[in-house]
Amino acid sequence: MKKKEALVVGAGPSGLVAAINLAREGLKVRVFEKENQIGGYPHWHPSAHDTPVGKDLFKYIGIDLWECFKDFSKDFLFVINDEMVEVPIPEGQTPFVCERGGRPTSLDSTLFRIAEKEGVDFVFGKKCTQADLDQAPEVTVLATGLSPEMYEITALPFAVYAGYFGQKEIADQTPKASMFFGGFSKEYGYSSTTNGIYYVLLFSRKEVSEENLAEFKKLVEKYDKIEFDRWKRFMGYTPRTCNLFYKDRYVLSGTLAGVVEPALGFGITGALLSGKISAIAALDRKKGQAEYDRFVGGVPRAIAKKKEPGYFPTPPLVGDVWFDFPTE
Ligand SMILES: Cc1cc2nc3c(=O)[nH]c(=O)nc-3n(C[C@H](O)[C@H](O)[C@H](O)COP(=O)(O)OP(=O)(O)OC[C@H]3O[C@@H](n4cnc5c(N)ncnc54)[C@H](O)[C@@H]3O)c2cc1C
Repeated sequence: MKKKEALVVGAGPSGLVAAINLAREGLKVRVFEKENQIGGYPHWHPSAHDTPVGKDLFKYIGIDLWECFKDFSKDFLFVINDEMVEVPIPEGQTPFVCERGGRPTSLDSTLFRIAEKEGVDFVFGKKCTQADLDQAPEVTVLATGLSPEMYEITALPFAVYAGYFGQKEIADQTPKASMFFGGFSKEYGYSSTTNGIYYVLLFSRKEVSEENLAEFKKLVEKYDKIEFDRWKRFMGYTPRTCNLFYKDRYVLSGTLAGVVEPALGFGITGALLSGKISAIAALDRKKGQAEYDRFVGGVPRAIAKKKEPGYFPTPPLVGDVWFDFPTE
């Protein structure tokens, strides 16, 4: 019998998890990826991304990815207004770092290898267009992350995030991270190392001014004792709302579905979780929506909290949006 077809647009973590799960359900899965290779936008990577990982996340998505995640809780600096602060890590929210990009040690490459083993077919250098969407199979998952193109095709309302980052290869392989909060951003900055990559990012909801970047650079030099010759500008597009479906026709996944932890913007855990939920939704809309609501229902409430006077995004406020996996 001919296999049912599925299309996944975007080979980031959410698209790859969706593709693997759909292939395991017996579908013939094709992935369109606009870049010429795995690992997302090459300008941003290789990079080190920090995220808490709930202990049952990998069981839920059906893919064991512990090899990609390193616990940095023993080598973690928390700097608020130029002062080192002790912040207890809430139970179940142990922070991990993972490598992103196209190197063999990255999360992307690991998921890609698993997807290939499951028989997923990849089309690299293929930017999805309106015509592709019009001809897409009934099972289509859109997982285009922080890229602008899908917002040009769809009518999804979006917000733009901006920032600056620096990256360097270093000899030290120890997983480490620092988080910086202060007047230089309404969000925060972080630095992280894993697999010999040092990565630092100043993240902001608005354009970063020269003064704010200079203040952040000074903090990085002071606490991490590292300097960069070159800081690169970054812009990312995120949806203004959380939605699992677009036009009742396409399933959304990862960033595009708004599955980003609301306090500190951890998107990796969200992308992995969301990939599984999208695969469920692509085959059973009602069940997928129930799963989406179970994990993501608290996100709009948590985003609203951000607008309250005096709000400050410390880990205890991260909340239990999707780190607690109820055991079934
Ligand atoms: C610089 C930077 C630092 C970050 N740091 C952290 C961090 O420390 N911790 C954390 O948890 N999160 C972090 N994030 C966020 C995290 O990277 C995202 O939440 C996560 O990658 C979302 O996964 P995704 O699968 O939804 O999308 P992505 O990983 O963005 O993947 C989307 C894929 O779709 C492809 N694509 C886009 N448009 C098209 C198209 N039209 N056709 C075909 N393919 C397309 C892209 O090339 C890409 O490969 C960071 C993001 C950036 C940019």
